[in-house]
Amino acid sequence: MRFLVTGGAGYIGSHLAWALLDRGHDVVIIDDLSTGVGALIPNDATFVHGDCADPKCLRAAYGPEPIDGVFHFAGSVVVPESVSDPIKYYFNNTTKTLELLRFLLDRGTRHFVFSSTAAVYGQPVTDQVTEDTPTEPINPYGRSKLMIEWILRDVAAAQGLHYLALRYFNVAGADPQLRTGQATPEATHLIKVATGAALGARDGLTIFGTDFPTPDGTGVRDYIHVSDLADLHVLAMDDLLAGGTSGVLNCGYGRGFSVREVIDTLKDVSGSDFPVHDGPRRAGDPAALIADPSRTRERFSWSPRHDDLTEIVESALAWEKAWLARTANGA
Ligand code: UDP
Repeated sequence: MRFLVTGGAGYIGSHLAWALLDRGHDVVIIDDLSTGVGALIPNDATFVHGDCADPKCLRAAYGPEPIDGVFHFAGSVVVPESVSDPIKYYFNNTTKTLELLRFLLDRGTRHFVFSSTAAVYGQPVTDQVTEDTPTEPINPYGRSKLMIEWILRDVAAAQGLHYLALRYFNVAGADPQLRTGQATPEATHLIKVATGAALGARDGLTIFGTDFPTPDGTGVRDYIHVSDLADLHVLAMDDLLAGGTSGVLNCGYGRGFSVREVIDTLKDVSGSDFPVHDGPRRAGDPAALIADPSRTRERFSWSPRHDDLTEIVESALAWEKAWLARTANGA
């Protein structure tokens, strides 16, 4: 099979590219390298440098051959930036997805796996959310992704698109073989910041809020290993190609860890007692956000392979160490 991966030089897209290559598929990546990193692109993938909404790049990516399915990761993902620059988010995420959809439907590609987000739920009143929990995103990032979910539903009804929108919870960790990992320099995610602090690449870490209504007062999240998430994309596409119905699916494990639990695990694993400061809450952060992944588990008979916080943190730390060494050597 031949698949197009937009944003394939990014953190999650590059893991999926490897997962597809490992299964013997042909992979074409489009990435404008605005946040993606060229060094993460597998050598065996065909790479088109450019915009996933630009027909010129899409024509180059397709070539004369058909594409059996598209995985659409490309987009902007920084929540505070979406608040200060909403037009960038609606343009990069929503408008460009429309252009991409128009092109691929014209070319007869009808199978589409989309990177959505738990941010579509906003501040849910229940900690554990199902796909039927009301979607009330509280920032332009979440709204830009939810709009695409609506567009996909309409296009599926009208034009025979088959899609699954995967709502990611907190993605962390790295490829166990360390072929790729989180390399975006400005990444602000907890485990990325904490591994940098453990290795001395960052001064320390601030906990954003210690007065949440959670057992230890810090935010609780559902951390999913990026390799399990990549597997879910493969399962989603296989399912669609076999005639599965379109819809949305939660991608998490269904249990939460607090910021303090993550930090303690990382301190144990690394042996580093890096500085940690208590700080105020970050705007827009819910107290707890945990997936109910029942629908995903049942649909794919899915059992995660890396549902273990220690393993997630170890793999993130191993990657960070390897990546810091690579970048110090000019990678
Ligand atoms: N967090 C923190 N310090 C940091 C980064 C994150 O305390 O430097 C907290 C954040 O407030 C949230 C959790 O860690 O409770 C996960 O945040 P992250 O940015 O990794 O992902 P999000 O849940 O915002 O998508």
